[in-house]
Amino acid sequence: MNIVFATSEAVPFAKTGGLADVCGTLPPALARLGHEVTLVMPKYRCVEYAGVPIEPLGITFVVPIGTKTVSGHLAASHLPGSAARVIFVQQDQYFDRDGLYTERGEDYLDNCERFVFFCRSVMEVIRLLNLRPDVLHCHDWQTGLVPAYLTLEYQTLPRYRQIGTLFTIHNMAYQGLFWHWDMILTGLDWRHFNWQELEFFGQLSLLKAGIVYSTAISTVSPQYAIDIQTREYGYGMEGVLHHRRDCLFGILNGIDTEVWNPSSDRFIARIYGIDSVIEGKAICKVELQRELGLPVDGQTLLIGNVGRLTHQKGSDLLAALIRRWAPSRPIQWVILGQGEPDLEEEFRSLSQEFPERVVARIEFAEPLAHRIIAGADIFVMPSRFEPCGLNQMYAQRYGTIPVVRSTGGLKDTVIDATPENIGAGSATGFAFTEPSVEGLADGLERAIRAYDDKDLWWQLARTGMRQDFSWDRSARQYVELYDWIRRRRRGA
Ligand code: ADP
Repeated sequence: MNIVFATSEAVPFAKTGGLADVCGTLPPALARLGHEVTLVMPKYRCVEYAGVPIEPLGITFVVPIGTKTVSGHLAASHLPGSAARVIFVQQDQYFDRDGLYTERGEDYLDNCERFVFFCRSVMEVIRLLNLRPDVLHCHDWQTGLVPAYLTLEYQTLPRYRQIGTLFTIHNMAYQGLFWHWDMILTGLDWRHFNWQELEFFGQLSLLKAGIVYSTAISTVSPQYAIDIQTREYGYGMEGVLHHRRDCLFGILNGIDTEVWNPSSDRFIARIYGIDSVIEGKAICKVELQRELGLPVDGQTLLIGNVGRLTHQKGSDLLAALIRRWAPSRPIQWVILGQGEPDLEEEFRSLSQEFPERVVARIEFAEPLAHRIIAGADIFVMPSRFEPCGLNQMYAQRYGTIPVVRSTGGLKDTVIDATPENIGAGSATGFAFTEPSVEGLADGLERAIRAYDDKDLWWQLARTGMRQDFSWDRSARQYVELYDWIRRRRRGA
């Protein structure tokens, strides 16, 4: 099959979250299965820093943006080590900036215009490079207008007629909401600004555009596809998602099993496999303690957390629990992340008040993320909602026990250590239900009790290490879905 990805992020070129991991690793996995994949993304300033050669294609194009026309250029590269081609849309006024969507915590004021331009560019790239996709795979609100343009403007043209679209939602919380006058930028007729198409409580929703106009919709875990049809997790979009439930699927993200591999990881103090996990993790743990200036002691329980410091991730619950436990309980906490300023501040304060027990690194540091995941005994993720989550899978691969809130992808990937699951040999971690400090405390208490039972502990760790979280597995499921979309389009 021939697949074109339209995305605003992909590793190693540009990343703010899990979306980039998916778009950098799924295309190579599809290519390995023999499919042709081209990825189209903006050429941000950071793209140059990836150290991958990029060639200008000498192709210039113009697209309408509201009442003006804007020109762009194309450049080409490859995802490293893969046949998957990358086409960069270059428009320096929009994309040659320090951030992808924000600067100093503020959204760029022209985000709608930037991604209207990008979506229109994707449609043009198909024509200019003579791409013949069976499926155009779009990701998140930044590409929500692609299915809309295809349906409303391009599908009458023979070249575009058979193209099906898959719109993948990586996180419902980011909706691409803009004031209604931005409709003019899209160039779409105002009659589409209604509650069944582009309008969302008086605003323009680019996420809704993707949901409404795509052939099929997917989310990044089966459970999240169910969660977002409820009021609690649907952000007001539950009705439209429920309406499209026959075309709504969930496919679990894979992880990059080469980058995240304890037996070859170049960032960790000692590499290890399933047979050497006890010794390997012991060394990784004390080296992590040394690196971070914590008391070096293999016996002290070390709990890690890496990720965005946000309400979504339950970082506030984690901070509150640390504040409750740190004065009295000899547990070491290592937090790596950036996010909401008040949460960053709270973690900084905790590390200053309890320097022997709490380390908070407020930065983005991938090598350190590897060392935390390898060195921690427990990896904690108290997310209020979680479309998929990657760190709980990385943790399992490294024999680190996840303690997670049972939601979305966390529910799909962590098998709770109930007596039945332990008996069946399937348990890999601990899941709690309530999104509260008490819920989190209960989940951690269960894990802490298990930590004293070393046979059980290493049984959980080894079961986790044996899980198949590879992209090859996910890629096969995407191919099935692409095929479903292709048949549906041809039928239409
Ligand atoms: P989300 O996409 O919701 O932020 P995911 O768990 O799906 O969360 O993916 C986040 C990715 O970004 C993971 O690979 C995680 O390790 C990484 N990450 C997040 N914050 C940091 C940080 N401060 N330093 C290093 N890696 C980080």
